[in-house]
Amino acid sequence: MTPQRTCAGCGGKTSRNMLIRVVADADLHLVVDRQRALPGRGAWVHPAPECVAGAKQRRALPRLLKLPVGAPAPTEEFWHELALAALSEAPPAPTHE
Ligand SMILES: [Zn+2]
Repeated sequence: MTPQRTCAGCGGKTSRNMLIRVVADADLHLVVDRQRALPGRGAWVHPAPECVAGAKQRRALPRLLKLPVGAPAPTEEFWHELALAALSEAPPAPTHE
């Protein structure tokens, strides 16, 4: 059984190896954890443009990562990298249950 994680964009649960992992670095900047190996709390997003957009709109990532108030907002570079990761890792038929 693969552990299930909740997508920050749509709230759907999916096995973790089907999701993109996001972590905050030491300076509280969000980074895309392409290897799913960085230490610390992770947030998860489906590799789907609508889920990336949903996570952005809902400002879900800082909340899920429990970043303190005053942490830097996710940068455009971060969203761009996340969108690229979503494109390159998109499975043939993403499912949203
Ligand atoms: Zn999703």
